[in-house]
Amino acid sequence: MSFSLERSRIDKLSKDFVLDELRRVGAQRGSRYFTGREFNQTSTKCKHTTVLRTFGTWQAALQAAGIDSTPKRKQRADAIPVPALFEELGRVWRLIGHRPSKLEWEASTPKYSYKTYRERFGGWVNACAQFIEFRSNPQPEQSLNSAPRSPIINKEAGRTILESEKRNIPLKLRLEVFKRDQFRCIFCGRSPAMENGVALHIDHRIPFSQGGKTELENLQTLCRDCNLGKGGAL
Ligand SMILES: [Zn+2]
Repeated sequence: MSFSLERSRIDKLSKDFVLDELRRVGAQRGSRYFTGREFNQTSTKCKHTTVLRTFGTWQAALQAAGIDSTPKRKQRADAIPVPALFEELGRVWRLIGHRPSKLEWEASTPKYSYKTYRERFGGWVNACAQFIEFRSNPQPEQSLNSAPRSPIINKEAGRTILESEKRNIPLKLRLEVFKRDQFRCIFCGRSPAMENGVALHIDHRIPFSQGGKTELENLQTLCRDCNLGKGGAL
């Protein structure tokens, strides 16, 4: 194996690895700009120097991960912590009994404006999906335990692994599944927005172990209980 081939393969894989970590940290920070120092405070998997080595600049890295790369909005947006925004969203959601629409939100005299959520999370529905993710994964590192510890040594040589061939579901896709399934378990209808202690899982309809793909059509939202009751599916 030539050095350059090996080198480019490792670069590609570590890039995916770093991107996943950037997105995970970004999700915890409401997809807002964060500094390398803030990244180091949140990340459990790599340092910002690895990110810089991989992408060249911090801005390029944030852009690649779909995170706001302009620090100028930071001061204003940082005023309200994400957990406070989510707590208020949960309060109104339970009050109304379903995901609040714009009108319902505004009629509920909420603490924070519709626009605050829209700007902070890149859209209202996105804010709702990230809220569900947050309530389902109070300890985000837990959800990553199923991911390979080191993707670099787990991959087959010389082959590009598509997202749909990975068991780990990227955050963006998880949010898509939550949105499509109306933020609740498709079997029993429970939602972490309405009830404490409910966590939603994203389940492969055709199990990953049986060749099921990690793509929207093969994924469904189940609560933890329904998912574990299925047996052998995960
Ligand atoms: Zn259920």
